[in-house]
Amino acid sequence: MTDNKNCLPLLGEVDVAIVGGGPAGSACALALRTHRLAYRVALVESSFYHATRLGENVSSALLPLLDYLEIKEHFLAQAAYVESFAVQACWGSHIPLLQHSLRHWSGEGYLLDRRCFDAMLAETFHLRGGKLYLSCRVETILPAEDEEGGYLLHLRHQSGKRFALKARFLVDATGRKANIARRLGATSLHYDALIGVSRFFEINPAAPWSKDIVIESAPEGWWYSAPLPENRLVVTWMTDAGLWREQGQDKLNCWESLLKQAPNSDARLRQTAVAADTTLTVRPAHTHILDQTVGKNWLSVGDAAASFDPLSSLGIGFSMHSGCHAARAIVGYLESGEMNSLHHYRDSVKRQFTEYLPTWQHYYRYETRYLHSPFWRARHEQNSFSQALP
Ligand SMILES: Cc1cc2nc3c(=O)[nH]c(=O)nc-3n(C[C@H](O)[C@H](O)[C@H](O)COP(=O)(O)OP(=O)(O)OC[C@H]3O[C@@H](n4cnc5c(N)ncnc54)[C@H](O)[C@@H]3O)c2cc1C
Repeated sequence: MTDNKNCLPLLGEVDVAIVGGGPAGSACALALRTHRLAYRVALVESSFYHATRLGENVSSALLPLLDYLEIKEHFLAQAAYVESFAVQACWGSHIPLLQHSLRHWSGEGYLLDRRCFDAMLAETFHLRGGKLYLSCRVETILPAEDEEGGYLLHLRHQSGKRFALKARFLVDATGRKANIARRLGATSLHYDALIGVSRFFEINPAAPWSKDIVIESAPEGWWYSAPLPENRLVVTWMTDAGLWREQGQDKLNCWESLLKQAPNSDARLRQTAVAADTTLTVRPAHTHILDQTVGKNWLSVGDAAASFDPLSSLGIGFSMHSGCHAARAIVGYLESGEMNSLHHYRDSVKRQFTEYLPTWQHYYRYETRYLHSPFWRARHEQNSFSQALP
C-alpha cells in the first residue's frame, strides 16, 4: 500500500504516533500500550540509542510511576544505575553544605545510565506490541485527507528510505527543540540560554570516593558532577550559550581552566579520575514553555512542552509524568471528540511550570558572590524570570 499523493510505502495506520523516544515519549507510549491494549501506537525515534545521553539524577519518587508502567522490577533488576544519598552544594560559599536525601520522604535517588534507561523504555514498548521506528525522522506533516482527520507523516530512515505513516493523533516528544509542535504553529518562550557542557571520566574504584552529587557555583556558571554506573563520573559545566561561544577555540582547554575556578569539583576530579574522554558533549538546558502545548489532534510532552533547569532535577520526572498524563488525555479526547481532557492536561503543565519559576529564581539569587558576571547578573535582574506566561 502507498500514500497515494507521494507514492511512499505506507507503514500503517495508528491511533497515536509519538515522535521522540526519550523518557517522555516512551512513557506516553508505554502507558497507552499497557493500559489501553486496543490502541495502535507508533514511536518514531531519530537515533539508535548509541550516542551519549545527558541528565541522570532522579529521585525514588519515580518508582511509583515505573510501577504504573509495569516496568519497576525490570528497572531495578537491570541495575543500570547508582544509588545516591546526598547532594553537596557549594553555593553561596566554597564550603559544601550536605543535604541527605534520606531526610526526604522519597528516600534515596538514582543516577542513571541514560542511554540504557531510554533504550530500556523503548524496547519494553516494542516488546509489548508497540511499533518502534528507530533511526527515523519526520520530514513532512500533512493533514490526513479522510473523514477521520489526523495526520499523514512522511518519515525518512537513516538509510535514505522514505515511508508514510497515518495517525489519528500526534505527540511531540522531541525534547527542548519541540520540533513537531513548532511546525504545527506553536512558539517556544525561552527564559534563559543555559547549556550543559559535559565530559565523562573513568574513576578508580579502589580509591576512596563519594557517591554524592556535587554542585558548585563559579563566576560564569556552575559545575555538576555525579558518579555513574561502571565506575564513571560525569562532570558538567552549566553556562550561557553566548558565554561559551565567546571562550577561545580550544574548548577542552577552556573547560579545564574554568574547572580550576571551582575548587571542590576540581579536587574531586583530581582525586578520583584515572582516564578522561577528550570529547565535550554540549546540550541545551534552557527553561522554556510552549505558548500552545496542545492543539487539535496533537499535544506535546516532556521537555518539548516545558523544560526546567537541571539544577531542579525535575526534568526526567516531569517528562515521564507528563507522558502518562498525556496518554490519559489522548484517550479522553479520542473517545469523546471533546477538547476537555487536552485542556486539563495543558493547564496541568502550565501550573507545574508556574510553580517552578519562583523556586528557580530563589536558588539563583541565593548566590551573591559573582554579581559582576553577566551569567549571575542576568539571573538577579528583576525581570529575568518573569516573562509573560502563555
Ligand atoms: C546537562 C543536562 C543535565 C541534566 N540533568 C538532569 C538531571 O540530573 N535530572 C533530571 O531529571 N533531568 C536532567 N536533565 C533534563 C533531562 O535530561 C530532560 O528533562 C529529559 O531528558 C527530557 O526527556 P524528553 O523525553 O522530554 O526529551 P529528550 O530526553 O530530549 O528526548 C527527546 C527524544 O526525541 C528524539 N528526537 C528529537 N528530535 C526528533 C525528531 N525530529 N524525530 C524523531 N526523534 C527525535 C531524540 O533523539 C530523543 O530520543 C538534564 C539536562 C541536561 C541538558
